[in-house]
Amino acid sequence: MSKKSSSPLADLPSVDRLLQTDSAAAMTVEFGRAPATDAIRRTLDDIRTVVLSGGNMPDEVAILSMATKHLTEVNAPSLRPVYNLTGTVLHTNLGRAALPEEAIDAVAQAARSASNLEYRIGEGKRGDRDEHIESQLCEMTGAEAATIVNNNAAAVMLVLNTFALGKEVPTSRGELIEIGGSFRMPDIMAQSGCTLVEVGTTNRTHLEDFAAAIGPDTGMIMKVHTSNYVVEGFTAEVPEPRLAELCRKNDIPFAIDLGSGTLTELEMFGLPHEPTPMEAMKNGADVVTFSGDKLLGGPQAGIIVGTKDYIARIRKNPMKRALRCDKMTIAALSAVLRLYADPDRLVERVPTLRALARPVDDIRSAANRIGPAIAAAMDGFAQVTDTACESQIGSGALPTRIIPSAGLAITPKNNSGTALNALAAAFRDLPIPAIGRIQDAAFILDLRCLEDEEGFTAQLSALDLPG
Ligand SMILES: *Cc1c(COP(=O)(O)O)cnc(C)c1O
Repeated sequence: MSKKSSSPLADLPSVDRLLQTDSAAAMTVEFGRAPATDAIRRTLDDIRTVVLSGGNMPDEVAILSMATKHLTEVNAPSLRPVYNLTGTVLHTNLGRAALPEEAIDAVAQAARSASNLEYRIGEGKRGDRDEHIESQLCEMTGAEAATIVNNNAAAVMLVLNTFALGKEVPTSRGELIEIGGSFRMPDIMAQSGCTLVEVGTTNRTHLEDFAAAIGPDTGMIMKVHTSNYVVEGFTAEVPEPRLAELCRKNDIPFAIDLGSGTLTELEMFGLPHEPTPMEAMKNGADVVTFSGDKLLGGPQAGIIVGTKDYIARIRKNPMKRALRCDKMTIAALSAVLRLYADPDRLVERVPTLRALARPVDDIRSAANRIGPAIAAAMDGFAQVTDTACESQIGSGALPTRIIPSAGLAITPKNNSGTALNALAAAFRDLPIPAIGRIQDAAFILDLRCLEDEEGFTAQLSALDLPG
């Protein structure tokens, strides 16, 4: 052995040398010269460390493949598609509503070029971005005026801040909700500059309770839809028309936060009634707020409908400017609202409604179709059986209501918690991660929301199960 080759790093190729290979050329075409060079340099650094601590020196092909893998990983977008097989149709952590194709096209178009976002083409003058959705929302809800902001949390804060900054807001003790992500009504009121005045009790609130709470410092009355829980048993709440009447007498606005706020009758999916903005307006609300990406099935947005005067006041609040929606949201929402104009094809076009309406037999057939592919991929590690599932709407709509569904239960042969967790992790590690849930000692895939069966089964060969 010559003196030179006695160094364990002597055979390490140089960055320049590697850059002249075909693999490096391919990396450069895909990612650019600087990132390719950087990836090769980092890979060589890593190898140096490994080799100096006694590891083997990989050959050139292996080094380049490590660099390519590194570069591909670094370049992968953090936000990526997953299969929602949790059974929760509107899963906040998984992005809630999938948009209809019509809305996706509208987003792309709005993103691609200049538009008349705040421009009246006919008059050649400045316009307002709300104009693109206002008439549609008014038509659908029966409201006189409408505006939108980034989400419903923003809508609630904006309404409170507009009508009750430095003032009191009587709200029923039964409606002081906390929903996920630190949205707690008492905190939201405080942050909006209002003083919450708790009225009634947890289970029963009467009109007299509200009447007694109204004074010179009252800014508005707020009714909050108890999205994620139900108060049952010996209960009483004040009918909306009575609250509306009380507010009118005292010349203060009556606002209702509906949360999900469906624009369809959920009865057609065999679900119980969920209050609609149309009913809220009919019951005398001055302002109604609801989400764009819950049961509506559109983009994240907070929709505010109401009377002309009150919506005009909301628009004048400087906070409105800070909470305004971008053009892509407006394009998507407008496209979704257009679909609502054609109720006959609504369910087939809006993915959220399509998932909710999907017959359980249809889901069961899907389980029969893809079950064998999963069983094959398990390769003896686990048993796969058809199972009945219980889906739910999610995002605080009809929280106690279960929708019968179907799917697959995957039970490891060595049925330990470790094996179950490993199974769930392996599905999360797929090119398009599949998110299921662990229940009753099985890993459950609820297939209600799986539309791309082929894409799902095609990647099962990549499933990496423990030894
Ligand atoms: C979901 C919900 C909100 C918040 O809506 P986002 O669109 O998630 O911001 C506010 N109020 C109620 C009653 C809700 O259910």
